Amino acid sequence: MPVSRLSDLSDRALAPRLVVKVGSALLVGKQGVRREWLTALVAEIAEARARGQDVIVVSSGAIALGAATLGLDKGGRGSLADAQAAAAVGQIALSGLWAELLGSHGLTAAQMLLTLDDLEDRRRYLNVTATLTRLLDAGAVPVINENDSVATQEIRFGDNDRLAARVAQAAQASAVLLLSDIDGLYDRHPKEPGARMIPVVEGVTPEVHAMASAESNSGMGSGGMVSKLQAAEIAELAGICLVIGNGQHDRPVARIMAQGIGTLFLPRRRAGARKAWLGGRLRLKGSIHVDAGAAAALLRGSSLLAKGVTGVEGHFERGDPVAIVDAGARVVAHGLSEYHAGECDAIRGLHSSEQAEVLGYSPRSSVVHRDQLVLK
Ligand code: GLU
Repeated sequence: MPVSRLSDLSDRALAPRLVVKVGSALLVGKQGVRREWLTALVAEIAEARARGQDVIVVSSGAIALGAATLGLDKGGRGSLADAQAAAAVGQIALSGLWAELLGSHGLTAAQMLLTLDDLEDRRRYLNVTATLTRLLDAGAVPVINENDSVATQEIRFGDNDRLAARVAQAAQASAVLLLSDIDGLYDRHPKEPGARMIPVVEGVTPEVHAMASAESNSGMGSGGMVSKLQAAEIAELAGICLVIGNGQHDRPVARIMAQGIGTLFLPRRRAGARKAWLGGRLRLKGSIHVDAGAAAALLRGSSLLAKGVTGVEGHFERGDPVAIVDAGARVVAHGLSEYHAGECDAIRGLHSSEQAEVLGYSPRSSVVHRDQLVLK
């Protein structure tokens, strides 16, 4: 039986493995670390463990903490160099804190610092999976953050919301809890009169995106509702539930699970593990534009044939991830291209009999094979 409401998340049979993401604004206040709050949260994590649930923590706060120590303005987010320096200082304190507080419940903390590439490259992704699984089997609580001090702008997640969803996927978790400073997703700006919180979302549709308001950003972290919805999309594709809930209250996990206050995003479908990894990839190398017939065929589960390709963008190689875009500029799928960009362009619109002549060798059965393709 799958999870269908928030109270299911405290049931270890329905949700054996949880990822709890803690935002910077919850962890760090004007006076530094919010130790009392964190102590209470760690007690809730220990309760989940006692119920037999595995817990992985994704903790922000390194930049905010380090900036305070180094006396950097803008919370350490004035420049990439500031953020990287701040993270290097703050991360030590942050992991020490988690180790100490988890330790007081007899739990062992295990620090993992990841970059985007660790989860985008299939081999490294599987490596992360193996380490997480081993740690959980050994009874540890992984405490994860982005390796902010080494990741440059291009290879950063930048927000821990998507990192948490990717980690959940790597760890085959049942659910992700994004603890934030807002109760959940509202149907319009939460301060507008009549704004209503949405309890359950089935599918992050364009209408759901339209509800997201950039103003739910505390200014301390880098998340906001936009990155939370992106995280929800990654989770949804991986068959994982995701919750946006308010971490500002006492016992925030119980408030979400026992009182049912939060927005629960249900997975729409469970893609195979490889397809979920592919669909959650954040960096694509280019795009292939297709006509209406090809787009419709993709939705029916077919491969993409050269005949339906109308244009090619970017410099991708054979095997690189690309977006497949329809005539209305909508991304219909992500997939791995069977050809490099130049070849794709050369054979676009051609039947297979005509392709051999252009390529100089007998063409592959498709431009993107359906086994290497995920619908968006
Ligand atoms: N990794 C960042 C930090 O530790 C936080 C990213 C975010 O705000 O989501 O400070």
